[in-house]
Amino acid sequence: ATPTAVMVATGVGANNGVLIKGGDSLERAQMVKYVIFDKTGTLTQGKATVTSAKVFTGMDRGEFLTLVASAEASSEHPLAKAILRYARHFHFFDESSLTSGTQNDGKELKPGWLYDVSDFSALPGRGVQGFIDGKRILVGNRKLLMESGINISTEVEKFVVELEESAKTGILVAYDDVLTGVLGVADPLKREASVVIEGLQKMGILPVMVTGDNWRTARAVAKEVGIQDVRAEVMPAGKADVVRSFQKDGSIVAMVGDGINDSPALAAADVGMAIGAGTDVAIEAANYVLMRDNLEDVITAIDLSRKTFSRIR
Ligand code: ADP
Ligand code: MG
Repeated sequence: ATPTAVMVATGVGANNGVLIKGGDSLERAQMVKYVIFDKTGTLTQGKATVTSAKVFTGMDRGEFLTLVASAEASSEHPLAKAILRYARHFHFFDESSLTSGTQNDGKELKPGWLYDVSDFSALPGRGVQGFIDGKRILVGNRKLLMESGINISTEVEKFVVELEESAKTGILVAYDDVLTGVLGVADPLKREASVVIEGLQKMGILPVMVTGDNWRTARAVAKEVGIQDVRAEVMPAGKADVVRSFQKDGSIVAMVGDGINDSPALAAADVGMAIGAGTDVAIEAANYVLMRDNLEDVITAIDLSRKTFSRIR
């Protein structure tokens, strides 16, 4: 392709909300064999919604939700935002005061209803930890609780497994080192996701899903979207290793992601595609930015490359 053709393609991309950083990545996209998708916020809408909350001790439900929301208040994770919205709704938006549009964003929390949290830490791929009244609170997955020495009863385990088998994520909560409750979170697939996966397969490209979420939820989501090859319970640093494992035989690999967690994998991929609505770090690490937050643009990008470079073959 001539420099003019590359310029034209870059312009066509830009008009469709596909920002291409450089002719090299435009050229590589035509040869992509694997497209590795992050799950949360990439295949799914990233608009997690709490669908259930179960307390396993005698603790009051409002008290439980306040504790969990307090622990998550400093986290940027989509799961944290969902929990804040749910807890806030519980506290302030009963039937009478519910007005549409005002309860959408955990940001407008009324001050004063959350507890002070000391020694907060976000544990990537696991959850959050903090201290309220000198007592430890843990909110996250099994791995987090097990590593912290919290006992997970068979009753709790059964509840979590049921959530996971219906494609939901179970968030476990321990307060004062006792497993207090579990939240179920659903994150629906993007509307176009299945069609895009089918489209890629028709183009001879193999889709893969990679996620930090647990195996059972991951498998349920992958099945829904039509992806056979799944890698779950991958720690943030591990996503880049997954990319490299697909590159071993010389295959050209694209990675599509939105999160800070995805940036090493986006950088490691031959073609990194960041969702425009994603985090700045991901956008910086990628070769392509998909501004419309629509997965169809993964196909648009590969098509554009194929069309631009087929002329020289
Ligand atoms: P993904 O790769 O799907 O974007 P992450 O690596 O961000 O997922 O997180 C993996 C898992 O770690 C989540 O599914 C959740 O169980 C747990 N987790 C991470 N951050 C939080 C948080 N702030 N609150 C609760 N759980 C969390
Ligand atoms: Mg993500």
